[in-house]
Amino acid sequence: MNKKRCISIIGSTGSIGTQALEVIEKLQDKFEIIALAGGNNVELLKSQAEKFKPKYIYASKPISVSGTKTLSSLDEIAANKENDIILVACSGKIGLKPTLKAIENGIDIALANKETLVMAGDIVMKKAKEHGVKIIPVDSEHCAIHQCIKDISQVDKLIITASGGPFLHKSVDEMKNATVAETLKHPRWNMGKKITVDSATLMNKGLEIIEAHHLFGFDYDDIEVVIHPQSIVHSAIEYKDGSVIAQLGLPSMHIPIQYAITYPDRFEGIKSRSFSFSEIARLDFEEPDFEKFPTVKLAYKAGKIGGTATACLNAANEEAVFAFLDGKIKLYQIYEITKKIFDEHEVIQNPTIDEIFEVDNTIREKTRAYIAQIIL
Ligand code: MG
Repeated sequence: MNKKRCISIIGSTGSIGTQALEVIEKLQDKFEIIALAGGNNVELLKSQAEKFKPKYIYASKPISVSGTKTLSSLDEIAANKENDIILVACSGKIGLKPTLKAIENGIDIALANKETLVMAGDIVMKKAKEHGVKIIPVDSEHCAIHQCIKDISQVDKLIITASGGPFLHKSVDEMKNATVAETLKHPRWNMGKKITVDSATLMNKGLEIIEAHHLFGFDYDDIEVVIHPQSIVHSAIEYKDGSVIAQLGLPSMHIPIQYAITYPDRFEGIKSRSFSFSEIARLDFEEPDFEKFPTVKLAYKAGKIGGTATACLNAANEEAVFAFLDGKIKLYQIYEITKKIFDEHEVIQNPTIDEIFEVDNTIREKTRAYIAQIIL
């Protein structure tokens, strides 16, 4: 990076967005912030804008920051060719359209938003190829794989690690009656609420398999999941000749965020301390228990079916997770509800973006209606 990289962050007030700003603060001479876009936490967005002085902001409610122009849509950020790269750090489907818009404008993407690929991976990756746009994953597992791959044609399989979440070694009964607070207590990673619940049910891993399929173009049968409770090995690849390359590091999202926004360069940046194998002492691996965590198999199934199956899986699961966070349903019901809605979905193959959004809306309504009915 011999000149300042112009960056915008969609979702600057969330978990990834705030950590990205911590990275950028350490690398102030490397970046110029074009725009920051935040969700409901307008106060935080305002203080971020006052501190980092972006040219533009986008907020869900009207705010004013002197010296900064307020935009009226995320698309305006995505269409602004001043950007070299846009970090899509928001969660949910809101990330999809601006990502496509940015790709059409030839702007590289640092992608933290899983839904973009789970909902519309075929369309997004095709468009990125057409426009010569780089999509650099921020998700730690995919970022690890991105770092391991030298020649993708020589790679036989991807090995995605999973911490196993807070219920890894708890009984099925304990898991069934888990409270929201217990579920949100993730042993390794500090993340947003929705993804933390997904990590507890392992649906997060399911969504990551779909994400990996699109990012790296591997068949689902060549993407493996292994439980690794310490979250030090962030994922690995196996080459044809049996060589396995893994990426290791302390479990901090700062590292993959920094990698994605500075790629292909590397800087000391926010690194806090040096890695020590002897400090870590041991690394454990085990096969996932698909009976206890059936979400992973459901995600494989959805991925293999393709079309709108994965958008349906995503929408039903997210609505069920919200219902759990609202105290309306039990943890295990997230899977039961998701599976029921998924099984009833009539898949559209090769959908358009509009069809995907329509499926997303219909499935959410259906899921909410079904939840309302079962909690009566
Ligand atoms: Mg991940």
